Amino acid sequence: MSKVLSVKCPHCKKEFDYYSSEFRPFCCERCKMVDLGLWMSESYTVPIKKTPEELEFDEFEIPQEDLNFFREDDEEH
Ligand SMILES: [Zn+2]
Repeated sequence: MSKVLSVKCPHCKKEFDYYSSEFRPFCCERCKMVDLGLWMSESYTVPIKKTPEELEFDEFEIPQEDLNFFREDDEEH
């Protein structure tokens, strides 16, 4: 008996065969974990949403004043 039922994963909206997924109604373990809020395992990587300002600060660790200085300097050349 093989049934095929194409459904869309509630999490990632990817179409998959409902009966072939162990993690239905999700397409995969990842989506199930995310949806259930169990996304804590370190075996999964979640991109952390940051604003551009926060990213800049984390990457360079330079005070905004100094960043502005460097930029201005760059533009003059
Ligand atoms: Zn999914």
